Amino acid sequence: MECYQCIQAGITREAAGLCHHCSAALCLEHICAVEDPITLSHVMAPSVVLAKRARVLLCSICKAALEQPCAEEMVFGNVAR
Ligand SMILES: [Zn+2]
Ligand SMILES: [Zn+2]
Repeated sequence: MECYQCIQAGITREAAGLCHHCSAALCLEHICAVEDPITLSHVMAPSVVLAKRARVLLCSICKAALEQPCAEEMVFGNVAR
């Protein structure tokens, strides 16, 4: 598969991964790896954010969209904080 953003720019480059949000294929230059905190939710106790964080690959467009205020909760589902 080839990088979607490179194709849009008229270049052909092998993709290294997929955007978690829009599933666009992305090369290493265009892929953004962000940290996704893992939250354990208990009914009777406050939710706990674990020390190790998961990885989410995003394209620059989705990363910018998800970094808008209040967007993170909607996408990653970490409602309890
Ligand atoms: Zn690219
Ligand atoms: Zn995307």
